Amino acid sequence: MVSFLVKQRGAVIISWFVLLLLPTYSICQNDLEPFEIDENVVLNMDSTTSSVLKVWKSYLINKENIDSVKKYWSEEERTFFSDKWVDARYRYLDYSSIRDIHNFYKPYILGVKEKEKNEYVIRNLYYHYFEKTKRMFFSYAYNIYVIKEKNKFSLQSALYNNIKKAESKKSGTVTGYKFGKLSKYTLHNLDTLDKININLAKLYGCIPIDIKVILAESTELMMQATGYDYERSMYYANQSNAFSEPVNRLVFIAGTDENFLHELCHLYTHHLYSPNLYDRTYHNFIDEGLSTLFGGSVGIPLIKHLKKIYNFDVKYPIDFNNLASLRGGIDNVTFYNCCIGGLLCKVMYDREGMQGVSKLLKGGTSDEALYRTIETVIGIKRSELNKFIHDELKKYAD
Ligand SMILES: [Zn+2]
Repeated sequence: MVSFLVKQRGAVIISWFVLLLLPTYSICQNDLEPFEIDENVVLNMDSTTSSVLKVWKSYLINKENIDSVKKYWSEEERTFFSDKWVDARYRYLDYSSIRDIHNFYKPYILGVKEKEKNEYVIRNLYYHYFEKTKRMFFSYAYNIYVIKEKNKFSLQSALYNNIKKAESKKSGTVTGYKFGKLSKYTLHNLDTLDKININLAKLYGCIPIDIKVILAESTELMMQATGYDYERSMYYANQSNAFSEPVNRLVFIAGTDENFLHELCHLYTHHLYSPNLYDRTYHNFIDEGLSTLFGGSVGIPLIKHLKKIYNFDVKYPIDFNNLASLRGGIDNVTFYNCCIGGLLCKVMYDREGMQGVSKLLKGGTSDEALYRTIETVIGIKRSELNKFIHDELKKYAD
């Protein structure tokens, strides 16, 4: 949850990146093709490169048909992750600070290279061109692997390709994959992470799920392990970061493990309240709120965030009537969705325990559904929402 700082600093990095690529770039896209290919790749196209690109192209054209994904993806990886959502990472490409921008899916092929025998990497650039301002925005450079498996070319995620070669260790329900030194990790003992997982499952009232944790020294190494050659947060000065991929039960933590519990909560929330990748029953404020209630946000406990919001609100009153429309937070650390969402979850947790929170989690995904849930579950009408949140925040005054 460091998106704002990342975005601001990212702009500096992007400017030279744009200059480097402009000579070979064409802003005219052929809408029928799922990607564009750099002219140098076209000039050096041989039959292997053509076959490697063909499997990527076929996947991109057919990715909407979820059942067809299997045809293009390596069997080895489908056995390792869930068969169904093995391509989740390439479906959304939203693991970065710019996850709110979704229309960047059409890649520009920068190169195809043989990495090892029968193993090729395709380097993709994702960009967007803003017609109105005539400006280009580069979101990331991201890799996909193509491997020869049973005499057939198949896709393999860069993450899987990297973690199968990484140092790993298992303790009970947790398997850790290490990238770089982990000097700032306080919980790096996997037994501790296993205990946290078992305790959290108890809190959610279910059997512990087996999880995989990517433990990286820095955001840069974490994003590299995931497949990025370029992504804004890789160059952000603060190299602590975390995210999760609930559908494949993956937690990614970089620089420090203080965000582990927050991300783990997302896995359980998804596990119990999302029948599949697309259908979930909860609003983002409740998802982030619950993770913040149990695991803090940006390594800071919910109570501290609420004290900060209270003090800020005294000087610069916030209008909570349109709660769901509030974006960002009071600064780059204390976000409305995590903290006011956390406050709503805390109200219900204090009142009825996890059963109460569960009612919030079943409320629906839309903003209207959130207001309706607050009214039916917490008992606060939309017209009283601003006063209710201000009254609750007063409890956190020093
Ligand atoms: Zn979160």
